[in-house]
Amino acid sequence: MSTSFTPTSTSTHHTKHHSRWSDKQSKVLGHLAEEFTLSTAQLEHLATAFIGQMQSGLAGDQKSSDLAMIPTFVSGRPDGHERGSYLALDLGGTNLRVCLITLKGNNDLESNSKAFKVSDHLQEAHISELMDFIAISIKEFITSEHISAKIVEHPSDSETLELGFTFSFPVTQTAIDAGMLLRWTKGFNCPGAVGNDIVQLLQEALNRNEVNVHVAALVNDTVGTLLAHSYKHPNTFIGAIFGTGTNGAYVEDTRSIKTMSTPTADEMIINIEWGNFDKDKRFLPVTIFDNKLDRESINPGVHVFEKMISGMYLGEITRNILLHLIDQRLLFDGTSSTKLNTHWSFETKYMSQIENDNSATLIPIAQILEQELGIYLNTQVDREIVKFVCQLVGKRAARLSAMATAAVIRKGLSVEGRLAGHGYPLKLSEGDHVFGAGVNKHGTMVRERTDSAVDHRDNVQPIHVGIDGSVFEHYPHFEEHMVEGLTELLGSRSKDIVALGIAR
Ligand code: ADP
Ligand code: MG
Repeated sequence: MSTSFTPTSTSTHHTKHHSRWSDKQSKVLGHLAEEFTLSTAQLEHLATAFIGQMQSGLAGDQKSSDLAMIPTFVSGRPDGHERGSYLALDLGGTNLRVCLITLKGNNDLESNSKAFKVSDHLQEAHISELMDFIAISIKEFITSEHISAKIVEHPSDSETLELGFTFSFPVTQTAIDAGMLLRWTKGFNCPGAVGNDIVQLLQEALNRNEVNVHVAALVNDTVGTLLAHSYKHPNTFIGAIFGTGTNGAYVEDTRSIKTMSTPTADEMIINIEWGNFDKDKRFLPVTIFDNKLDRESINPGVHVFEKMISGMYLGEITRNILLHLIDQRLLFDGTSSTKLNTHWSFETKYMSQIENDNSATLIPIAQILEQELGIYLNTQVDREIVKFVCQLVGKRAARLSAMATAAVIRKGLSVEGRLAGHGYPLKLSEGDHVFGAGVNKHGTMVRERTDSAVDHRDNVQPIHVGIDGSVFEHYPHFEEHMVEGLTELLGSRSKDIVALGIAR
């Protein structure tokens, strides 16, 4: 990139730049743009590495893979005909959510839920204290929401109330209702949990607090997302999270899972734990801002990929960049604020608000800078720069998210499974190897050479990706940038074949 860089030359967003940047600003921001802009070739390279790590993870090769590829013991997917009332519990971010889910059959469900704030104290308290809090929250939910009446209306087969526990941290499972915590992530660090069975810890807390609920299943949030999406869109292939953290799960042929000795079914959902992709930074184009964030995080050296993508971290990367610009007197006339100088003070939500400001004078951005960050003196150029930085960080996150999603789809297509005689063309790898792809009526991913594929495309359903998380749902242009990245990696037809959707 030349030194006469101007924001409009790489920004594809709807920003109107009414004022010019100084030479120094253009130079430094141009350099930043180069560092944060990932080319198709870079994404290809990462996708290849990603598939390689998926394969070594499945083979149980701990040394060469950062991807845990955890068998979940979930081997069936709902098809929308299931009925009954169940409790669901979701722990994995800032809120604990307790839900009653009533499956009505015919792809329709009803749910009511209540959120309980997990305090900073609880996020680092002893695990028994956290589990007591969960048990008491469930008790409160059951008594306050007239749950018993609803359950009588839609009974399940069991006498006690069955609970599915969505626990969004890396766990190795030994059964559908047993799993050991591998490590904490996303700001949690409760002693007494790593190496122990999470289901047992919760069941003990429920018994201790006299709550008559049976923990029937432990699932990762990615798995829950995949299953929930399947209920509405049978044949969902991937469940993905872009929220506080990021992760994905997909349906694998059990014969490929070398870490499981006696497969009992044809397919099983695998929790990839993709937040930990390339933790040694051999492929990821990490910047000094990413390294600073990682070093200062509660879990340095792991989940490096997640730290480039998810809601807990994007604001902090942006804050690091803004301070770097301030220190060179390229922003806010070299003046920061106490708030902006504080770790984690720049929330990812602000980035969304900033990118949503399409006004000419960017006054809404001035309001965020003042009210949220205590930056009172800012010019229009300053505000343009702040928005520009958010766009770089947000777009990189969306493109990396697309890369992981595309890699999982390619991995699914490369399996020599049952090949149905229909398909759409999708790019299976770099170069010209174009295959037809889709899911057949059994929900199995299929591929076919393009020539025969084209003729029968009506018989194939799209590949559904169920997604949950505030970043995907609320970050401006996130989905659009993901679709763009998927198109670069899977070919132009991927828009028709890969259906991203929010899982409810
Ligand atoms: P969780 O992942 O904890 O289940 P969410 O999916 O709601 O919950 O994700 C929460 C994360 O999303 C937080 O890290 C927060 O910073 C981020 N977030 C919340 N609101 C927005 C928004 N409007 N735009 C972008 N990110 C947001
Ligand atoms: Mg969540």
